[in-house]
Amino acid sequence: MDPLPLVEKILQFIEPYEFQTFVLGFDRPKGYDRAQHEDSFRKLKQALGEEISRRTPGVDADFLRPDLRIDIDSNLSLRLQVAPIFLAGRYRKLSRNIPSTRWIHHACNGHGCPTCSHTGNLCGPSVQELLSTPALKASLGQRTLFHSLGREDVDARMLGLGRPFVLEIHHPVRRKLDLDRIRQDFHQLADGLAEISTLYLTGPEARSEVKATEAEKTYRAWLDFGGTVHSPKLEQIRALCGITVEQLTPSRVQHRRGRNTLRKRKVLESIWLGKVDGRNAWEVRVEAGMYVKELVSGDEGRTRPSLAEILGCPCRCEALDVLEVHWNPPWEQVERPAR
Ligand SMILES: [Zn+2]
Repeated sequence: MDPLPLVEKILQFIEPYEFQTFVLGFDRPKGYDRAQHEDSFRKLKQALGEEISRRTPGVDADFLRPDLRIDIDSNLSLRLQVAPIFLAGRYRKLSRNIPSTRWIHHACNGHGCPTCSHTGNLCGPSVQELLSTPALKASLGQRTLFHSLGREDVDARMLGLGRPFVLEIHHPVRRKLDLDRIRQDFHQLADGLAEISTLYLTGPEARSEVKATEAEKTYRAWLDFGGTVHSPKLEQIRALCGITVEQLTPSRVQHRRGRNTLRKRKVLESIWLGKVDGRNAWEVRVEAGMYVKELVSGDEGRTRPSLAEILGCPCRCEALDVLEVHWNPPWEQVERPAR
């Protein structure tokens, strides 16, 4: 078979796509076993691959992680699979009214209705959507998935250096993206609600890392002592440091989780900041997974010990800020030459 017409067809088919690596595959006709199939198509595949590489300089075949996978069926029809691209970075959430990932209004299934002001969302635009809009515009991708290292409550701010995340862009047409431009567009859309630090183009391993990592966090909790004037003693606050706290699933999330389980998490640092901007502030570093609002209030005895228990007075977390997620993402680590 003359490979040239097929090469033309393939090149036309993938013409819009930016790619550096590709792989070709032929569907196996019925009745052929694998070896027989490989054998009969090996030469044609090789000829096609060489011709495509020759005519699109800088492009190579790659069987393991191709940008494009082109499958050819017995009628010489083509199918295309485009590998996703991954943007990694950190976000800061400065608003207590937006979530990090999209909160769909389930009544209209996210399609938009009068109740949700035709946004399809239950509350403001998420960090995910604010970033997806410019990322999809730049990449001409179809959809995104947002993976972050844990997440804060909607009403909590994410401050400090921000929370590491990976944005996965599916079916991108362009793979070489102007990351500064995406950040600028994000900031314009976010209008002060959220910020994004440096963006990095990474591989799929970044997604696995961010999903598998459990990191300690430092919080600042703004406390309300139920109207009573209360000035805790430093020793009382420090007494929480190093203690393992037992937490039954908080009443506020139990309806979602459906189960009542016991968690044990350690308090690693506990510092009384006193009055900050006229409000009582406490800084605490905890292991991954600690429910901090309940660590403050005790959640009617479901979390023990708690700040309220140790101080011996009612104590409520009025507002919460995440100050630090203690993890250094590999993509941020500067490569140093070996000594
Ligand atoms: Zn709706």
